Amino acid sequence: MMQVEITNIIDESFRVKRFELSTLDGSVIEFVPGQFIQIFHPTLPEFNNTRSYSISSEITDSNKIELCVALNENGVFTPWLFQQVVGNMLEISEPKGEFVLYDAHLNFPLVFVCTGTGIAPFRSMIHKALSLGSQEVYLIFGNRKLNDILYIKEWESLMVQNSKFHFIPVLSQESAFENYGYVHEFYSDILREIGEARIFVCGWKDMCAETRNRLKEMGYNRKQYFFEQYD
Ligand SMILES: Cc1cc2nc3c(=O)[nH]c(=O)nc-3n(C[C@H](O)[C@H](O)[C@H](O)COP(=O)(O)OP(=O)(O)OC[C@H]3O[C@@H](n4cnc5c(N)ncnc54)[C@H](O)[C@@H]3O)c2cc1C
Repeated sequence: MMQVEITNIIDESFRVKRFELSTLDGSVIEFVPGQFIQIFHPTLPEFNNTRSYSISSEITDSNKIELCVALNENGVFTPWLFQQVVGNMLEISEPKGEFVLYDAHLNFPLVFVCTGTGIAPFRSMIHKALSLGSQEVYLIFGNRKLNDILYIKEWESLMVQNSKFHFIPVLSQESAFENYGYVHEFYSDILREIGEARIFVCGWKDMCAETRNRLKEMGYNRKQYFFEQYD
C-alpha cells in the first residue's frame, strides 16, 4: 500500500473524471502498461472497501499516474471518489494485473476494443506498442456521443504521426456519425480483413460477453484474445 496525493482532477464530463495521483517523495510508480491499482476507502468495511482502476497514464516512468473513472450514481465508491479534491490523500495498492502486452504480442497486428473508461489500460499499451515498432494497431472505441470520447485529440494526432495506428471511434447515439452503432460490427470487419491478430478487450460485462461470443464464433481462441472486465 502507498499514500498518494491527488494533484489534478479533470472533469471530462458530468460522469467521467481523470485523476492524477502523485507519490509524496517523488518516487516512480512502476507499472506495466495495462495494469491497475486498487484504491482503499478509509471508512467502508474491509470486505467492501476497495475498487480497482486501470492506470491510464501515457508514460510509465513517472511519480504520477492517471486514472479515468466513470461515476456510478448508485454505487458505493465512486460518489465518494467524485467528492475528492486536489490536495487530498488516497491510499492505493501497488500496480497489479496480468492484462498486459508481452513482446510476443508485437509479432501480430494488435486490435484494442473498448467502451467508455475501458480505454484506460489501452492508453499506455498503445503508446508502448507503437514505440517498440509493433505491427498495425487498431483502436475500436465505442461511446455514446462525440463528447464522450476520452483522449480524442491524442488519438487523432497519433493517427497523423504514425501510419500504423488506426483510430476507429464508434458512436451509438449519433446517427449522423460515420461509424454509427456498436463496436462489434467494426472489429468484426477489421478482423475479417486482417485474420491473425492479438485482441485486447476492456469494459463492462455486456460488451465483454458479446465480444467474447463473437470472437469465438469467428474462430479466435484464448491465446489470441485477452479480456479485462470491469464488473
Ligand atoms: C481490473 C479492473 C479495472 C477497473 N478499471 C476501471 C477504470 O479504469 N475506470 C472505471 O471507471 N472503472 C474501473 N473499474 C470498475 C471499478 O472498480 C468499480 O467497479 C466502479 O468504479 C464502480 O464502483 P462503485 O462502488 O461506485 O459501484 P458499486 O457499488 O461497486 O456497483 C458496481 C456495479 O454497478 C455497475 N456499474 C458501475 N459503474 C458502471 C458503469 N460506468 N457502467 C456500467 N455499469 C456500471 C456494475 O454492474 C457493477 O458491478 C475496474 C474494475 C476492475 C475489476
